[in-house]
Amino acid sequence: MTPVIAVVGRPNVGKSTLFNQLTRSRDALVADFSGLTRDRQYGEGRHHGHRFIAIDTGGLAGDDEGVDQLMADQAEAAIEEADEVLLVVDGRAGLTPGDEYIIDRLRRQGVAAHLVVNKTDGQDEDQASAEFHGLGFDPLHRISAAHNRGIRRLLDDVLGDAEALEEEAEEAEEDGRIQVGIIGRPNVGKSTLVNRILGEDRVVVYDEPGTTRDSIRVPFSRRDRDYTLIDTAGVRRRRQVKEKVEKFSVVKTLQSIEQAHVVIAMIDAREGLVDQDMHLIGFALDAGRAVVVAVNKWDGMDPEDRRWLKEHLKWRLGFLDYARMHFISALHGTGVGDLYDSIDAGYDSAMAKWSTNHLTRILQDAVTQHPPPIVRGHRIKLRYAHQGGSCPPRIVVHGTQADAVPRDYQRYLENTYRRVLKVEATPIRFEFRAPD
Ligand code: GDP
Ligand code: GDP
Repeated sequence: MTPVIAVVGRPNVGKSTLFNQLTRSRDALVADFSGLTRDRQYGEGRHHGHRFIAIDTGGLAGDDEGVDQLMADQAEAAIEEADEVLLVVDGRAGLTPGDEYIIDRLRRQGVAAHLVVNKTDGQDEDQASAEFHGLGFDPLHRISAAHNRGIRRLLDDVLGDAEALEEEAEEAEEDGRIQVGIIGRPNVGKSTLVNRILGEDRVVVYDEPGTTRDSIRVPFSRRDRDYTLIDTAGVRRRRQVKEKVEKFSVVKTLQSIEQAHVVIAMIDAREGLVDQDMHLIGFALDAGRAVVVAVNKWDGMDPEDRRWLKEHLKWRLGFLDYARMHFISALHGTGVGDLYDSIDAGYDSAMAKWSTNHLTRILQDAVTQHPPPIVRGHRIKLRYAHQGGSCPPRIVVHGTQADAVPRDYQRYLENTYRRVLKVEATPIRFEFRAPD
């Protein structure tokens, strides 16, 4: 389960600066989910090669009256989704009533936060944290977010050091099953689909779903392949107890994506494609996951509406033309069986292995057909390629000035590789390396 870290504290202590350091390698995943999360930012970080999700509760500024309370409200909302809470304070400003207010609220909620004293740069270390010692947090984490100091040690304490994480990773997964996540807005039909899948005759569901705090992993087999359904939103449970509409959670969606090899992105045909759908698909692609699009509630739709929607989706999702799109009815089961073919194909693409020879030959053919441009007076020379990883597939291209390959030529190479290797559903990541 990808751990979730929330960064809380009053305005101006350096939360956003810390968040940016934590998620440095990637753009923050900013999403507007109808006011649910506008005040929060989500990002992905890595620690010793392991992913985590960070939430920034920033977005409030000034010291208007009531800001502390607003801040604490926001922090509380973020904490609901988080495994670890970093309470940031300003080592220069010292302890303020705002800090004390938030600490008090956290304590009353029974949240064990990590106290992070920021802005310790250019200050005597002991002096910077002296007044925070009395608060009873142990250890006190001293950092300088702006100078990226103390952050790695902080993460070692919060998430585990390299050794601990290594052990954990060995215990978990790679059980050889195809991990399938289902994402979509509330009410698109996720739990109906889950129940339809697990209720199918050909499907054998193993009785003991592995449960962790918020996730259910349901192992099942169909024909001769093994799958695990990742149900972070608890849609399976929900169906059984007939709860009302799911509370939408960005974190649960992200976790489902993180754990999956293949993500089924559900869209409600009756509602059409909305911004939230685009955000969710964007999350999956950012994480490098294979995507299968399932347009649900296709039953009983007017033929004219169907035609229009198909056209519209083809246009709006043009950037995803390598992913298959299914038109299904989870309620009646129509088209649901066809999803497996696409899930399998997506998985096979995501996990494919290619030899350096093969990749290099494709590169050379591509270059012969359409040579790369001249840059700084010399033609870019691309010499060989090797595979740098899978899920998503990574292709590393080597050559003189390879790092100067322009965007449109990169796209040409991507299209060529995609066509020749028959890669579908998954993004391909490219890396261009020139000799130093
Ligand atoms: P937030 O409101 O809590 O998100 O705070 P910001 O991240 O926006 O930072 C507030 C101010 O503190 C900015 O001017 C930052 O440049 C500054 N700041 C953040 N971290 C540090 C630090 O480690 N050292 C110093 N000296 N300044 C910092
Ligand atoms: P979730 O919130 O994404 O898990 O959505 P649910 O599975 O709870 O479905 C929301 C509503 O849509 C329920 O009333 C379902 O019966 C209905 N629904 C789900 N799939 C279909 C479908 O294929 N066709 C129709 N007409 N209704 C559906």
